[in-house]
Formats: sequence, C-alpha cells, structure tokens
Amino acid sequence: MSTQETRTSIVWDYAPAPESPDHVRLRDSYGLFVDGDFRDPLDGTRVPTLNPATEEPVAEVAFAGPADLRRAVESARRAQPGWAALSGLERSKYLFRIARLIQERARELAVVESMDGGKPVRESRDVDVPLAAAHFFHYAGWADKLSYGVGGRAAAPVGVAAQIVPWNFPLLMAAWKLAPALACGNTSVLKPAETTPLTALLLAEILQEAELPPGVVSIVPGDGAAGAALVREPDIDKVAFTGSTGVGKDIQAALAGRAVSLTLELGGKSANIVFEDAALDQAVEGIVNGIFFNQGHVCCAGSRLLIQESVADTVIGKLWERMGRLRVGDPLDKNTDVGAINSREQLERIQSLVSAGEEEGAVRRSISCELPERGWWFAPTVFTEVAPAHRIAVEEIFGPVVSVLTFRTQAEAIEKANNSTYGLAAGIWTDKGAKAFEVASALQAGVVWQNTYNHFDPTAAFGGYKESGFGREGGAAGLRPYLRVT
Ligand code: NDP
Repeated sequence: MSTQETRTSIVWDYAPAPESPDHVRLRDSYGLFVDGDFRDPLDGTRVPTLNPATEEPVAEVAFAGPADLRRAVESARRAQPGWAALSGLERSKYLFRIARLIQERARELAVVESMDGGKPVRESRDVDVPLAAAHFFHYAGWADKLSYGVGGRAAAPVGVAAQIVPWNFPLLMAAWKLAPALACGNTSVLKPAETTPLTALLLAEILQEAELPPGVVSIVPGDGAAGAALVREPDIDKVAFTGSTGVGKDIQAALAGRAVSLTLELGGKSANIVFEDAALDQAVEGIVNGIFFNQGHVCCAGSRLLIQESVADTVIGKLWERMGRLRVGDPLDKNTDVGAINSREQLERIQSLVSAGEEEGAVRRSISCELPERGWWFAPTVFTEVAPAHRIAVEEIFGPVVSVLTFRTQAEAIEKANNSTYGLAAGIWTDKGAKAFEVASALQAGVVWQNTYNHFDPTAAFGGYKESGFGREGGAAGLRPYLRVT
C-alpha cells in the first residue's frame, strides 16, 4: 500500500456535537401576528407544528381563517399611507434595527429553524440566519435611494403586498420578501408555510421589539387554503409567491384580470455542468453542495448533473466516494451534513419519483447509513444511466437525489441543459473563462454560477426563466417589483 493510500484510508469518526435547545424561548402556543400583536384567530384553528426529525410537536400555532386574513389585509391597508409617508431614512432605521435583532437572536433562530424544518443546524446557523440579516441590512441601505435603484426615475410604493413563502428556507424567504417591500414603503401580509411557521413568528417578536408600527407587517400562518384565500383578497395590490409551479399557475389564474402585480419564484431542475477541463475535486464539492444542501429542498438545486463523457466515470467515482462520507441524521448535531426531510408528504413525493426512476431503467445508488427510527429521512442518492425523458431528469424531486446525464460537446451540454420547462439556475465547472462566458450566455437560467454552486448574496438578483417564474429578488432588481415607476 502506498503512503498516499494509507493517508486517504483514515476514517475520521466524529463524536456527537449536539447544539443545545435550552436557550430557545418558544411559547407553547402562538396566535396570529396581526396589527402589531399576537391575536387569537377569529375563524381559524390551532394546530401543532412537528419536528420532522422526531415527529414530536414543537409548539402550537394559530392558522388563519378567511376573517383573519381579511383583518390582516385591512390592518395593512390602514398602515400603508403612514409607512409610505416616512422618509426613506426613517424606514431604513427600522430595517437596520430588525437586522441587528436577527443577529442578536441568531443562535435561537438557527436552532428553531432546524427543529421546525429539519435542516442541519450548521446550515441554519451559517447560511439561513446570517443571510436573512444581510437582506435587511442590504435593503435598509436602499430605502433612501429608491430612485437610484430604478434608473433615476420617480418611484412610489405599490401598496399592500400579500407574500407567501415555502418551507425550505422559512426565515430567509420571509426576509427576501419583507425587506424590499418595507424599504419601498409597502405594507405586507406574510403567510409562512404550514410545516414551518415558527421562525416567522419569532421574526414577529423581533418586529415588535423593533417597534415597527402596527399593521406594517402581519404574519398569518395557515394551510394552502389560507394562501389561496389571501391571494383572492380584494384589497391587495401585489402578490409575491415562492413555491411550486402548480400553485404559481393557480395564483396567476386567480389574479387574471385584476390590477394586482405578481412575482413568482417557482421550481427548477437546474443543470450543473462539469466540463473535462474542470478542477474535478472542486467540482465534486460543488456537486455535493448543489444537491445535498438542505436535503435537496432547494428550488435552484443542481439536480441534473451533466458530465462530459471523457471524465464521467472519474467524476461519478469521486462523487460516490464523497457521498459515503456525508453524515445523515440529527439536524441539531453540528456535524450533520444531511438532516430530516421536511414532512411525511415530501418524503412520499421523493420516494415515488425515485421509484419511477428505477422503473424507467435508471441505475440507483443510495449511500448506506443508519437512519433514525423516528422522523422522515432519505439517504443521499445518485442515479446514473438516466435518459433525458426519464421523470427523474424532468421533474423537480426536491430531495437529496441527483440524476446524472452525460454529454460530448459544448453544444450538446447547452442543448441538454436548456431541455427543461424550468430555467432557474445552472452551474458551470471549467478552467476556461471564455468557455464559461459562452455557455452562460447560451443557458436559459436566471442564475448561472461558475466554479461554485448555491452561492447566495443579497446584492445579486435571483429569479427564473420559463416555468421557474418571473420577477427578481435581491439587489437593486429586487426593488422593482415593489415600486410603481413613472
Ligand atoms: P407549495 O407550492 O404548495 O407551497 C408553497 C407555499 O404556498 C406554502 O406557503 C403553501 O401553504 C402555499 N400554498 C399552497 N397552496 C396554495 C394556493 N392554492 N394558493 C396560494 N398559496 C398556496 O409547495 P408544497 O409545499 O406543496 O411542495 C410541493 C412541491 O413544490 C415540492 O415537492 C417542490 O417540488 C416544490 N416546491 C418548490 C419550492 C421552491 O422554492 N421553488 C418551495 C416549496 C416547494 P402550505 O404550506 O400550507 O401548503
């Protein structure tokens, strides 16, 4: 055995490193945050929110009924003129305060995000929470410079925004939606997802502590029916939605013929393209981050891996070896790489698409790992021998499952990458700068990463092409959907 082999065969065993939830200050039961305070539902219900790693309830949460939604929209309407009348500088002070309070409660927010949603605490702590604060900081800076953000033209707020966010990045998506809306002088009614309402409710406490005027933001957890009712409320001016393409289409149909502006950030089947001249070890890290980050519950996940044929066996071999080192399990363990699947429904959806992949003839390999007895889990999986028409190459799995396709030439890579109804993101791995620019310009994707993946920044615009939606969030582009520009 060579020295090198001896070195690489060392197995590092990690001792458990659980993050303690002792510092978390959760209430037993949360009301709806409407008009500046937590209130009992008028016609809603109360339901427990479950920890997907244990199936145990974390807290009880009020779900909004139609009268609750109406009350929240009315309060947003009342608050809007006063909020818009504040100078940009004054609004920015509130946003700065919110950002600082998120930082102060960062540890608690990270733990609650992992308990409620199942993602590894390492990700909540290092990605979700700092980025949420960064979005408020970023848009605080824009609040008094709005017309610079829209090419020097006059800009006024749109009015009352109904904002609906999904369960994969609950706090971060709330920040993506609220920060630009507020900076631009709008008020908002935000509906968190059914399975992950808790960090949005902690954010409501933060808004109270920041003394945000009542009604500027209401946070109304609820199920899909509440989301559907909210977008049909007559007195809203704007809808911003992140979630599945199916629901996005339903919202579009519901708003047809109404003077309500709409932005949709929907699903994806993003291509992560590895050329033969790439730094392959670095590419493998990017592939792992692209698909196993947040259990693959990521709209822009690199779920279609396109590898140049000449290096396909090498890359798949390295990927398989790297996957074997992923640690799957307790989301609150700081060493965990892949946590729990967000809900039983999502697990069933993943299982059914994976079965479809096997039935259609693709070759499945899932890592062997011990999974906890309770909770919802899915072992990281790679499919090879995938044909472009297979369901696992076409449909969003939204789980830790990557489908590998190969290509011979640059033109074929572009054609295969664009062969999708979606167009949210893409990754390009190559050592050649000119090739990266050429391929990026030919890809129908809102975001293209070069030699990196899943890299987010509040200053950069994010959004899709085709059935991945329209409108941009982040950066100056993220102001536009919240302004009437004249
Ligand atoms: P949904 O699109 O149903 O959920 C997103 C949000 O919309 C949630 O707050 C949801 O509420 C709400 N909602 C549900 N139905 C309606 C409606 N008719 N009108 C308005 N709002 C509504 O996603 P799912 O949770 O059902 O996940 C299904 C699939 O969608 C996943 O497997 C994944 O492929 C994709 N998805 C994509 C996301 C992305 O970021 N692109 C995010 C989440 C899912 P509630 O939670 O109560 O249902």
